[in-house]
Amino acid sequence: MSHDQSAMNELHWLIDMVQTIEVGLVVLDKNFNIQLWNGFMENHSGVSPNSIKDKNLFEQFDDLPSTWLKQKMESVFLLKNRAFISWEQRPYIFKFKNYRPITGRADFMYQNVTLLPLSSLTGQITHISMIVYDVTDVAINRLQLKGANERLEYLSQTDGLTQLHNRRHWQQCMQREFDRHARYGDETSLVMFDIDDFKKVNDNYGHTIGDKVIQHISHLLKQSLRETDCAGRYGGEEFSVVLAKTSATDALQFAERLRKKIEETALVYEDQTINVTVSIGICDIQDELENSGQWLNCADEALYTAKDTGRNKCVIYKQK
Ligand code: GH3
Ligand code: MG
Ligand code: MG
Repeated sequence: MSHDQSAMNELHWLIDMVQTIEVGLVVLDKNFNIQLWNGFMENHSGVSPNSIKDKNLFEQFDDLPSTWLKQKMESVFLLKNRAFISWEQRPYIFKFKNYRPITGRADFMYQNVTLLPLSSLTGQITHISMIVYDVTDVAINRLQLKGANERLEYLSQTDGLTQLHNRRHWQQCMQREFDRHARYGDETSLVMFDIDDFKKVNDNYGHTIGDKVIQHISHLLKQSLRETDCAGRYGGEEFSVVLAKTSATDALQFAERLRKKIEETALVYEDQTINVTVSIGICDIQDELENSGQWLNCADEALYTAKDTGRNKCVIYKQK
């Protein structure tokens, strides 16, 4: 076999591989006119190499992110460096439908794309190549994992009965607000409340309805919250709220409104009407407080004063 012939053979094999490889290959000249469009690109776009040859890429595919992509390509020409576009940055460059049965959940093909400068025999960059990888499987797995992790995080922070923060997460939240106060000195208040005579609710109506009452109170509480408030189920029928940027006087207003609302809004369940009240303790952060545990104790003390002096009332903690 002559040298020429073997070179021809090699070229033939190369062209064969370029056509059938499971990766998209596109070659563009400096004006973004298409010089090569392989089988992968044809299969996924439905456009044949013959019909697209010498046509401008951005005119042929008007949903490409053209300004952004042109800029990237210009810099590849200029700097003679390759560039990489990840699916995490942009899910896809070419909007190809995803036909893979395993990843039926994706409507389109996730892609990683490499832009590669191609030099002529004289060393000038006259063309660039786009290499398009189908990374749908990886992307879907990653996204599902991320979704599952987010769900797990939510579950680990949330009380199942009420969807309020659970105690542990609420305590972290309270600690954060305590630290914020230490740094910026914003007024911050803590509100603790407990349902009055809840044992009687359980005794008279049963535990299931007791649970409904706890959900009902949480619902009324959520209606009263602002975005920056952090509310948790501290224990069985005990709730706690940190009110950011709120003085004790303003916290008292919040607490009074909540107390009245709970008193006035009966829970109607099946043919039963159930009224409950709550006692509320309030403590704003004072300079004497050394840590968040003391803050919590003070609010608790105020709550017990409210219980001891008749229930269904709000009490602000007073230092003795
Ligand atoms: P007080 O006015 O002094 O708060 O009286 P109380 O009867 O509410 O007394 P306390 O707060 O000490 O008792 C709360 C009761 O709530 C005790 C417990 O059986 C009940 N409980 C705690 N967690 C739950 C729960 O998740 N569901 C139900 N149904 N009951 C609970
Ligand atoms: Mg109680
Ligand atoms: Mg209690």
